[in-house]
Amino acid sequence: MTTSKGPRDIDFCRVCRAKVEEWASITDWESSTSQEFRLGRCADCGSITTAGDPPPIHAYESGLYSQEDPIGSRLLRRILSVLDHQVVRWLRRSNIPAGGRVIDVGAGSGRLIIALRSAGWNAFGIEPGLRSSSQAIARGLPVSQVSLEDYKNSDLDAAVLWHVLEHVEDPRAALIRISSWLKPGGGILVAVPLATSWQARLAGTNWWHWDVPRHRTHFSEQGLRTLGRDLSLTVERVHYLSWEHGPAGMWMAALSRLGLPSGYPFRVLKRTIRPKFADLPRVLVGAFLVPVALCTELLAARWRAGGAIAAYYRLPLNLPSSAVVAPQTPGLISQFTPPHNDGCTPP
Ligand SMILES: [Zn+2]
Repeated sequence: MTTSKGPRDIDFCRVCRAKVEEWASITDWESSTSQEFRLGRCADCGSITTAGDPPPIHAYESGLYSQEDPIGSRLLRRILSVLDHQVVRWLRRSNIPAGGRVIDVGAGSGRLIIALRSAGWNAFGIEPGLRSSSQAIARGLPVSQVSLEDYKNSDLDAAVLWHVLEHVEDPRAALIRISSWLKPGGGILVAVPLATSWQARLAGTNWWHWDVPRHRTHFSEQGLRTLGRDLSLTVERVHYLSWEHGPAGMWMAALSRLGLPSGYPFRVLKRTIRPKFADLPRVLVGAFLVPVALCTELLAARWRAGGAIAAYYRLPLNLPSSAVVAPQTPGLISQFTPPHNDGCTPP
């Protein structure tokens, strides 16, 4: 087992730039090397930072991120297409006009674009990963293979970052850039795992949403609000229950407490671990825990501690979008190139 180290160590919070303190070491369970990565926690906003350099490209090509279809992929895709309606419902509350131009940043193979276009918006996406963008284009979806820093546009009504911002090396710079593409009064929906969630506390270092080193920042709600405040974006709404990530994450947190590996069900479906006969008693107990996990996650969401959180930011109406404050560390979004799997939704 090796431990992360390198020039880009834990010094400052990627969200608010405050000093961070050593917090924990988490294992990359997607990698055969079982490398450990150090995490630092910000005393100001409570967000957590993964230390070390950004992951190499191959970190997105194995395990849950691999190209191989999981067991039951058709059923899973159908379930996810139903769950995508939650994103549509959230955006409808923001009064985006019919036919409005909505960009999905980090669009993967275009799953969310299908839902947004079905809702009547002119949705399109950017995706830096060759594999995922090629899949989207082959399906006839308007996805460009381009990184965030190389993309330009203007007068968009809204942007969606569905489980993308946690992969970005500099979330502040990324939001500033995206803001420059929007109309005054435009909106940005940002969904991320919540590092201060009940399920993160229950699973501890085995929480599957740590996903190191691919997840660079592990946001708190305060962190998302701080980002908005610092960038002159109004936090119009915060959602605490994600049907896609919340209940499943809570269930897997419970399974990890039974001694099963992090992300056990999805990793079995993705064939990255082979179930053992010795696991059977814990799997049976785990099956009974499904309704318990669901109820617990609903309760957690009521207490603003669901496993994933989504903030809807609104640009000021009376300012051109280019007036959003300039990045303090230009160039740090250059690492926004994760060729991920439909918004890091495994399997
Ligand atoms: Zn912070």
